[in-house]
Amino acid sequence: MNSSWVSQAIEKIEADFQRSADTHLIKLDIPALSGVDIYLKDESTHPTGSLKHRLARSLFLYALCNGWIKEGTTVIESSSGSTAVSEAYFAKLLGLPFIAVMPSSTAKKKIQQIEFYGGQCHFVDHSSQIYAESERLAKELNGHYLDQFTYAERATDWRGNNNIANSIFSQMEREPHPTPHWVVMSPGTGGTSATIGRYIRYQRLPSKLCVVDPENSVFYDFYNTGNANISCEKGSRIEGIGRPRVEPSFIPGVVDRMIKIPDAASIATINWLETLIGRKTGASTGTNLFGALMLAAEMQQAGQSGSIVTLICDSGERYLDTYYNPDWIAANIGCYQHYSGLLNQFSETGELTLPEC
Ligand SMILES: *Cc1c(COP(=O)(O)O)cnc(C)c1O
Repeated sequence: MNSSWVSQAIEKIEADFQRSADTHLIKLDIPALSGVDIYLKDESTHPTGSLKHRLARSLFLYALCNGWIKEGTTVIESSSGSTAVSEAYFAKLLGLPFIAVMPSSTAKKKIQQIEFYGGQCHFVDHSSQIYAESERLAKELNGHYLDQFTYAERATDWRGNNNIANSIFSQMEREPHPTPHWVVMSPGTGGTSATIGRYIRYQRLPSKLCVVDPENSVFYDFYNTGNANISCEKGSRIEGIGRPRVEPSFIPGVVDRMIKIPDAASIATINWLETLIGRKTGASTGTNLFGALMLAAEMQQAGQSGSIVTLICDSGERYLDTYYNPDWIAANIGCYQHYSGLLNQFSETGELTLPEC
């Protein structure tokens, strides 16, 4: 057995995985939907609180096996928060210094969590500056820039091997409609949608992948125009998803459909979901679920039955001072009551129609 530092580091990550449990697949109870079942894969229960736990594990293993991380290497990442929290956890596990480059607008809770795991936060004014600053720091410190936006799609084994798609499809096996009609996911890096979409194709399943994009993000326009050079000025208000540039880990060829979801609808949806499951979730979960509900209403209207799976990406406890703070909502999102009304109506009728805008 190889006793080098790299070999021991890989062993530590594998042992950590061996101690971990799978995340739960929650079935929603929506009586007005007859014949369409909605499920949420609860990724908030990982030790570091989000689906980025999976990505961080994969990125560290990929970098270790590539010879990019060695004993004492400073590890750097450009992250709006969640990825950095999970990477700080793995850096600490391996005893490596970790620096997260992030916009100064990042939620306080996430900054505290990164520091809790011994990570250091390095702030820039605008989310578009985080890439260049990460590269500069890596050069200056002779460190390694993990670069989630480039490597998310290739660090994860999309064929299976306990990835998220593998887990979802096996957890569905004993449900009334075991093969989902739709899987719905919102893109940050695009890595999770890439993994799910490739898995569906590789397993030759009839399931379709719908990707839901928030406001202030280029993925939707890129998908429809094919133009990879578009960018947008304002940063996304839905943490974890929506990007100002087309990220290399977003793979449009695996996506069957995209829907643009208004941010106010995402906020209304996390409040609606709380009444159903008694828990707060992050805003990207609202984006995912609103998309899933639109598809459910569509299926119902077409007389189809089947299942739809989407994700709880992280917990709402991280966002008490933003998405669950009425002052922050008033200043940043505005009125979302209109969507709350649509959702209440949906609870009663199973119908959900977006107004023409
Ligand atoms: C990263 C993230 C996403 C999107 O996942 P990707 O695999 O990066 O596309 C969604 N929600 C939250 C909270 C995230 O942190």
